[in-house]
Amino acid sequence: MFVFLSRLVMLVIALSVLRSAVAFLQGLWMDLTGGKATQRRPPPAANGGTTVLQQDPVCGTYVPTETSLKRIVDGKVLHFCSNDCRDRYKA
Ligand SMILES: [Zn+2]
Repeated sequence: MFVFLSRLVMLVIALSVLRSAVAFLQGLWMDLTGGKATQRRPPPAANGGTTVLQQDPVCGTYVPTETSLKRIVDGKVLHFCSNDCRDRYKA
């Protein structure tokens, strides 16, 4: 009976050691895979959304793509902060 109990205790110890080893390896794996994934992700925008800022070529102000005034010049889309800047670029 004592032999059986000591074997049971050994089994429990072996299992807990194995479990902590698996947890350690999982953490290592997360560091290797997850760490690289976070580095590959582009930095978040200032307002936390997907807003992309475009520079106004006239006054140099950065304007969000959705709200900017667009004009296509030589096949390139230019973004302006106001009608005033857009008209000034024309001249
Ligand atoms: Zn402007």
